[in-house]
Amino acid sequence: MQTSSSHLETRAVHGGMTGVRESGSHVPVIDFSTTNPLGDVETGGASYEELATGHDLGEGRSAVYQRLWQPGVARFEESLAGLEGTEGAVAFASGMAALAATLIATASAGRPHIVAVRPLYGGTDHVLASGLLGTEVTWTDAAGIAGAIRPDTGLVVIETPANPTLELLDIRAVADAAGDVPVLVDNTFATPVLQRPVEHGATLVLHSATKYLGGHGDVMGGVVAADANWVERLRQVRALTGGLLHPMGAYLLHRGLRTLPLRVRAQQATAAVLAERLLSHPAVASVHYPGLPGQDPSGLIGRQLEGPGSIIALDLVGGYDAAARFTESCELVTHAVSLGGVDSLVQHPASLTHRPVAGEAKPGAGIVRLAIGLEHVDDLTDDLMAALDRAAELGGLDDAVTGDASPDREAVNAH
Ligand SMILES: *Cc1c(COP(=O)(O)O)cnc(C)c1O
Repeated sequence: MQTSSSHLETRAVHGGMTGVRESGSHVPVIDFSTTNPLGDVETGGASYEELATGHDLGEGRSAVYQRLWQPGVARFEESLAGLEGTEGAVAFASGMAALAATLIATASAGRPHIVAVRPLYGGTDHVLASGLLGTEVTWTDAAGIAGAIRPDTGLVVIETPANPTLELLDIRAVADAAGDVPVLVDNTFATPVLQRPVEHGATLVLHSATKYLGGHGDVMGGVVAADANWVERLRQVRALTGGLLHPMGAYLLHRGLRTLPLRVRAQQATAAVLAERLLSHPAVASVHYPGLPGQDPSGLIGRQLEGPGSIIALDLVGGYDAAARFTESCELVTHAVSLGGVDSLVQHPASLTHRPVAGEAKPGAGIVRLAIGLEHVDDLTDDLMAALDRAAELGGLDDAVTGDASPDREAVNAH
């Protein structure tokens, strides 16, 4: 099936389907085998050797053992790589397993120094700050990247749009500053529908597939899309460390990709309307959403990012107490961590996803993160406005509305 030259929507539907029609099926069969017949001893040994060193399953070879090769995982990887425009992709049990494998591959190649730009996903921040996997991090901003690079720098790590307040970074400028050092972009928030980082100079694209790629809140996974050399290295790390995506998860993620463009664009359209509406509520000090005026100063939307996506962060006037009241008052919107599914979620990053993040990098106590789903925009508006009304019932709002908020905010930030 020739899909590489077609449009993204067509690739999303038909990618990773090689041989399915010829086999007499309409969708891929899920193969749960943990081990596979080896054929003769010579073929078995050669198959093992090829797969353990990160190569593709060859013609007439055995898949040997699920930790080395799994056909459904390979289908998901092929489809995702087709969407990101990379030579390949390597899938893992979670986004963090994908990041861990990348850091292990980097450190073990003798370049353990990582340059990273905050804000990042809380888990990413934590694993880098802890040095758990043998890496050493230098935190910087976009302007400081070139100066932070050392001879032993193995990776530059960025996230754009960033978690949870949706700051945007110019990937091309970051890649230029990084020079020969590969740039990893966490593309979880944008998905390949809205942004394809390798087109702008990135080397590695990481996803928590748990979010938009799966899209229904029922499967965990992670994936790194990259060139053939990185794919080989990451497969070797996966084969040795075992952070595998289960065949059922691979099936669900592969299926999720088929509706990804539709879901991402519909969720984005709803979020764009909500961001405007929420801005008008007096309990809201500010709305972080790249689609709002002034929030894309470098003009990246249209050039790097197709649209602002469907994550909105609200900074509430009443700080921590208002954020807690708002979060607990949502009814249609579920108070739960994660994002990218068909149903809308709300969470409080400072106490949850960004809890392990060091003080100065932690999101403000009044910030709540909304992940907008596929519900009707008016039903979401009703639910969120009612929850904002509840948050506004707390004391301090009148002062805050008249411009006296900052002392209060400082106080609650100490929570
Ligand atoms: C959730 C998330 C991760 C971690 O992925 P898991 O699948 O939960 O391991 C990494 N980056 C971003 C931006 C995320 O939202």
